[in-house]
Amino acid sequence: MRRLNVVVVVILLVIAVLCGVLQLSNARTFQVFGDIVARVDTDRAVVALTFDDGPTDNHTKPVLEILKSHDVKATFFLTGRETSRNPTGAKAIAEAGHEIGNHSWSHNRMIFVSPTTVREEIESTDAAIRNTGYRGALYFRPPYGKKLFSLPWYLAQHDRTTIMWDVEPEADAVAAADPKAMAEYVLDNASNGSIIIMHVMYDSREISRQALPSIIQGLRARGFEFVSVSELLALQHR
Ligand SMILES: [Zn+2]
Repeated sequence: MRRLNVVVVVILLVIAVLCGVLQLSNARTFQVFGDIVARVDTDRAVVALTFDDGPTDNHTKPVLEILKSHDVKATFFLTGRETSRNPTGAKAIAEAGHEIGNHSWSHNRMIFVSPTTVREEIESTDAAIRNTGYRGALYFRPPYGKKLFSLPWYLAQHDRTTIMWDVEPEADAVAAADPKAMAEYVLDNASNGSIIIMHVMYDSREISRQALPSIIQGLRARGFEFVSVSELLALQHR
C-alpha cells in the first residue's frame, strides 16, 4: 500500500513538472534567459503589424501591395528555408523597406533541442535573410512561440530579444472564420504598443489577407500609427 502511494505521488509530480514545462514553453511574457516582449508599454498610439512564415513567391507580392497602398511598414518573421527557396519574395520584402525577423530555418519546435541545433537554425537563417540585401535589425520569433532553455540561452548570449505578440486574431475561432470578424477582433483587442501576429503567406490564409485592409484602415481610424518592431521597442523606456 505504501509503495502504491509513492508511485502515485511520483506520477503526480511528473505530471506537474510536464505541465509546468509546457506552460513555460508557451509563455508569452516570460522566458528563463534574456528579453522577451509581447507588447510595449507606451502612451503612444502605435502598433506593430507582424507576419510569420514564408516568404512564398505567390503571396508576398499581393501582401506588399496592400501595405504599400496604405503606406504601412510591417515586420516579417521569415524562415531561412523559405527565404532561400523563394528569393524573389524575400528580396521584395527587403526592397520595400519592411523589417525582417528570424523565424528559424526549419520552423521546428525549438524545445528540447541542443545548443548546436539552435545556433545552426538561427545563424543559417540570418545568413539567408542578409542575402536578400536586408541590413536592418534581426529580432527572433520562435516557431509556434515555443522556447524553453537552449533557445533563450542562445538569444540572451547574443543580445537578441524574443518577439512574441499580444493580439492573435487567427487563434480566435470566430475571428478566424471571416475577414470582417477578424478585423473587428483586432480593433477590439489592440492597444498602445500592441504586437499583432498574422499569417498571410500560404494559400490557406485567404481570410487573413482579405482582413488586412480593414485592419489597417480600422486601426488608423482609431488613431493608431504603424511602426516596425524596432521602432516599437525604442519606445519602451520613454
Ligand atoms: Zn511560424
